This record gives sequence, structure tokens and C-alpha cells, in this order.
Amino acid sequence: MSQPPAAPVHRIDLHAHSTASDGTLAPAELVRAAAEAGLDVLAITDHDTTAGWAPAVDALPRGLALVRGAELSCRWYGGQRSIPLHLLAYLFDPDAPELVAELTRLRADRERRGERIVDLLRADGIDVDWAEIHAAAAGGSVGRPHIAQALIRAGLVRTTAEAFEPRWLGERYRLPKEDMDVFRAVRLVRQAGGVPVFAHPRATRRGLVVPDELIAELAAAGLVGLEADHEDHSPAERAHVRALAGELGLVVTGSSDFHGTHKTVRLGAFTTAPEAYERIVAAASGATPVAYG
Ligand code: AMP
Ligand code: ZN
Ligand code: FE
Ligand code: FE
Repeated sequence: MSQPPAAPVHRIDLHAHSTASDGTLAPAELVRAAAEAGLDVLAITDHDTTAGWAPAVDALPRGLALVRGAELSCRWYGGQRSIPLHLLAYLFDPDAPELVAELTRLRADRERRGERIVDLLRADGIDVDWAEIHAAAAGGSVGRPHIAQALIRAGLVRTTAEAFEPRWLGERYRLPKEDMDVFRAVRLVRQAGGVPVFAHPRATRRGLVVPDELIAELAAAGLVGLEADHEDHSPAERAHVRALAGELGLVVTGSSDFHGTHKTVRLGAFTTAPEAYERIVAAASGATPVAYG
């Protein structure tokens, strides 16, 4: 008797950044690296931009499917203090006017805020230059990791992680961005045919996290999934997110949140189950995954 064929192994990583935001690989390099890492599916999810989509599609290697997405800078205004959070959006129409307008506004505010952070540093005698930082971001969504590189170049810190310590960009020289209301974000993503998934919802090591009651409200408002397996979640936090997703009927994802050399995590370090990926694709009407040829 012959053995049945082995089930195909699908390695699916639904969260990665390129130079279109604060990753260090260009979109074309990112998709090549994903194929080399043995991934079958990669989502490109730059902060507040879709600029990496076209160059990633153009460079797509054989055997890799690309999910076009973005990671939206959001905020929940319903608590005592507003809390920033990240919403992954997959397979939405990149020309949906209201969403495009919001992304443009978010990127413009990233520039204003980056320049103000540099002003604060310079006021303390720290020699960093906004024009140089802005040029190094090369037209991509500017973020604190770009300022971190300037601190490294100036010899003030050795690593990006060190630049995020409280005495630097983590607290002392941190300024808020003008984020998008999270309910509006969920609505606009769905309106654009996309699929919203809450990124690292329990990452307490990054700061305040939202209560489970809010996640239930977001599920009622159209949220589709929760990212459970992420390096910023402890094992207990991963289990909690998984259980909450089960209660609320939400899809569970796992992803690397790869940023090239701006972080230590590798592509495919965490992955999403094929069934979960299929539910995300089935929920989308704005775009489809792209494969070679
Ligand atoms: P921003 O979007 O400008 O607020 O910067 C936040 C980004 O900085 C996140 O998306 C991460 O990519 C990165 N980041 C946050 N904390 C750290 C850290 N401790 N080490 C390295 N990168 C970090
Ligand atoms: Zn980032
Ligand atoms: Fe994030
Ligand atoms: Fe991310």
C-alpha cells in the first residue's frame, strides 16, 4: 500500500515591514527574503502606506503569494486616557478615497512629529539633523526607528532597542502621533473591502493595552481577527488572546512583524495557520493575494 501524499506545509507570515516604512529591506528584497526563508505567504504591512505594494508585486518570486496590507496607526479614545494601537488591514482597495485621505494625513503627521522630536533633541544639544533623517527614510513613512538610526550614527546609542529606552525615544523624547480613531479605521477598512486584524493587542511591554471589552466592541463593529503569536506577547498573553478570539469568533493570526535589521526577529518566526489565512482571504473583497505569473 502506498502512503498518501504528505499534506503540503504552508508557512504564512502576515506582518512585515519594508523601506516603505521602518523596515530595512526594500519591498523587492523583502519578498525575495521571504521566499528564501521558506515562506509560502507573506503580507507586506508597512505603517500607514501602500507604497510598497507595486514594487513587491513586480519582484514576486515563484512560489510566494503576497498579501497586500498595511498597519494603521490607531487610537482608542474611550478610556480615561487615549491608548494607541495598531490595526493590520489586509486586501483592501488602495484607491478607496476616505482611507487614502486618512493614510495621507497619518503620514503627514508622522513628518511633523518626527521634526518636533528632532527639535526636542537639538534643544538638549543632541546633534541630529531632520533633513538627513528625512532623506534616509527615502520617501517612506517616517517613524522613530529612523530617528533611532540618527542616534546610532551620532554614537549616542548602539542599537535601535537602546534608542527606544525611556531616556531616549521611549519616553523622554517621545511625542504622540495624530492617530486614527480605531472604530473609524475598522469601518473604513471594511468599506474598502479589506480585513482588519488587531496587531499585538496584548503587548503590555510596549505600554498600555486596551481592555477586552473594547475588543468585543470592535468585533461587533467589524474586526475580523487578533494577532496572538507575536514576539511582544508573553506565552500567557498569547494564550489570553487566543481564548478571547475563540469567545468572540475572531480569526487568530501569528506573524513575525519583521523589520529587517531594525529588530532582531526573523521572517517566519511566528506564523498563521492555513485555515485562519483562508478565512481572511474569504472575508476580503478589495483585493486578492498575488502570486507569481
Ligand atoms: P512610531 O511608529 O514612530 O511610533 O515608532 C514605532 C515603531 O518603532 C514600531 O513599529 C517598531 O517598529 C519600532 N519599535 C518600537 N519599540 C521598539 C524597540 N524597543 N526596539 C526596536 N524597535 C522598536
Ligand atoms: Zn514599525
Ligand atoms: Fe505594530
Ligand atoms: Fe508592525
